[in-house]
Amino acid sequence: MAAQIFVISGASGAGKTTLVRALQAGDPSLRFSISYTTRPPRPGEVDGRDYCFVSEEEFGQLIRDGSLVEYVHQFGHYYGTSRLWIDQALRGRQDILFDVEIHGAKALKEHCPQGIFIFILPPTPAVLEQRLRDRGHLPEAELQQRLARVRQEVQEAPWYDYLVVNDNLTEATRRLQAIVTAARSRAPILWPTLSPFWS
Ligand code: 5GP
Repeated sequence: MAAQIFVISGASGAGKTTLVRALQAGDPSLRFSISYTTRPPRPGEVDGRDYCFVSEEEFGQLIRDGSLVEYVHQFGHYYGTSRLWIDQALRGRQDILFDVEIHGAKALKEHCPQGIFIFILPPTPAVLEQRLRDRGHLPEAELQQRLARVRQEVQEAPWYDYLVVNDNLTEATRRLQAIVTAARSRAPILWPTLSPFWS
């Protein structure tokens, strides 16, 4: 089977990380592109598994070396996709999943127009607001800022191939798995494996 590239983005607070983890847990053949970042690791994050954590100097060197296929600066930190992952994906060895924000997704589309681009969004602004309030501890002004940002991020949804509304984790994971299965069943992807039996 030819390799398939999946690019997943999501509005903040849509539960993208949890969904991506659930997808990977049920599908070990899907490899995760490990980005470089200058942000410090969060509790539980492992260098080389969640991200390659580097200094700003190291990140600058990666840019100069041409080692990154795309990068962004957001929330005060740099994030970038290693060229190695794209090369591996394009050589067709393995299905690869990229978790990047919208600018990264658009840059990856230039390299992999055949990729499958998926956007995760929360059910409605009201549900998102309730989720943020339930978590507590967010000052009202910050909460309103976040809601405004999510509304803006969601405007990019129509650019993607597929939308997954994360109303319920189990259901959303199932829909994401269905997208992956359908993508792998596309003739240009599956036929190279089947054709030797039929020639
Ligand atoms: P976090 O700091 O929460 O792990 O990630 C923040 C945002 O950066 C997420 O939207 C994630 O998709 C995005 N991101 C992570 N790695 C990359 C990357 O290599 N390139 C781009 N463009 N975005 C990334």
